[in-house]
Amino acid sequence: MRYYVEMLSRVALAVLIVAPCAGYSSDYWVEPLEATKRAKVTIESDAVYTEFRMPAWAPGDYQIFAYGKQIKAIRFSKDGEAAAHVVTPDVNLWQIPNGADRVEYVVGESAGNFSPNLRVAPGEFFVNGGGVLGWFVGDERNPQKLIAKLYSTGPAVCSLPTVPVEDGWAAFQAIDYDELIDSPLVVGRDVKVFEYDVLGVPHKIAAYGNGPFGDLSGWEGVTKPVVEEAVKLYGDIPYKQFIFFCEFGRRPFGGLEHKNSTRLGLWSKNPQQAAGLAAHEYVHTYNVKRVRSKVLGPFDYSKQADTGALWWLEGVTDYYASVFRYRAGMTTKENLLNGFARSHVSLMRNPARFKVTADESSMRVWESRGSNGFGGLSYYQKGHLAGVCLDLAIRIGSDGKSSLDDVMRQLYEECKDGPGFEEGRIRELCVQFGGDTLGPIYDRCIHSAEELPLDELLHKAGYMREKGVISVDPDASLKAAKIGANWPNLTLSSTKTAADRN
Ligand SMILES: [Zn+2]
Repeated sequence: MRYYVEMLSRVALAVLIVAPCAGYSSDYWVEPLEATKRAKVTIESDAVYTEFRMPAWAPGDYQIFAYGKQIKAIRFSKDGEAAAHVVTPDVNLWQIPNGADRVEYVVGESAGNFSPNLRVAPGEFFVNGGGVLGWFVGDERNPQKLIAKLYSTGPAVCSLPTVPVEDGWAAFQAIDYDELIDSPLVVGRDVKVFEYDVLGVPHKIAAYGNGPFGDLSGWEGVTKPVVEEAVKLYGDIPYKQFIFFCEFGRRPFGGLEHKNSTRLGLWSKNPQQAAGLAAHEYVHTYNVKRVRSKVLGPFDYSKQADTGALWWLEGVTDYYASVFRYRAGMTTKENLLNGFARSHVSLMRNPARFKVTADESSMRVWESRGSNGFGGLSYYQKGHLAGVCLDLAIRIGSDGKSSLDDVMRQLYEECKDGPGFEEGRIRELCVQFGGDTLGPIYDRCIHSAEELPLDELLHKAGYMREKGVISVDPDASLKAAKIGANWPNLTLSSTKTAADRN
């Protein structure tokens, strides 16, 4: 631990109490407190601020948790002297009237719906920033350094680039607060890492939790083909390294996506059992972490981020998780169609489909717990089947020339380097690639509580659905059969593929 206010900065700060200016940065020191299963966090800034916040929620988990409730023994200081703070009615906000350039606090273990925020086990700790690391208001766009206490042996694994630091610690550099808290970290004596590359970009399996972990090479077989299919669709790999944090045998089971990593809570050590989950979380690397609603980044962590597009960002992500696995030869067409049919049977048993629309299920998720929908309607399930319908409809409307791939790719091109999409943009692109019939189909799938037009679309693509099973229609026209035979193969009419570019 060290204090970190240079003399030059001290002079500047004498006349500038609140300094939300470029050129400043903060260091986040994190060390586990094993006896209490907590962690000590110390944030040292080279500027002075008058407000400190904890996030109310964490990206990917659409529920207000008010992580300020986990903070104990908070102490602020300025130039090495204690600085008094005011507790506010907002549990996530502290005010420091005379300013502070340093804060230290103890944070307890907590978990969201899909990932722990802090987990401290003997010889190992995991940090998911949203529930652990607060920020000085005004400092969030400045560079942030994450510095973690090392054990005597074992690695610290994080997707951020490493930077030098004193012995006994590992340091990682984030470009801003968003990136800092979206970059989980695991440190542990028994953490095991397996690495492979795709187009020269390293991908790591970081195993921790309840060991032993055995041979991790099987995880390459369930993740690498999905990565390669995503590259074929999107045309590039948008990160310098990607980490699959595989936490074995510990809840919450399930996954939480991050921009350059994902945390998977795994109940089994058999990679095949987790192939669907790993694919879903990896698709998020593109669809939600880069293709996103405008409100989903840069984030306002102080309040909920309302968007009607979670059916797309979660449900269509699920559709592409299965499509990528099919394209990669990891599953058969029969299994793919059976999965769609089972999902449809399940939706048909849910009367909430007549009351709640896909976009309402997204927009009002904050009123429910569990981060999967509203009013009994899951945007995962309705969105998954909406993805099936929209893909079929675009293929039918364009006579097989275009598909939902074009919409995915175009959204990525528009969003990857800039702000997210406006709520109406997906509809516009569906019409652009599928023709005028797509407008009413989109509205029926997303904005209405009518039944999905699945059966009529399957018919026009040479399939039929009987007794909950989707199969090839032997009486289909040649045109329909051709469209169906190509579904859901990669079909990009709008842009060049990665192979074309190279
Ligand atoms: Zn998801």
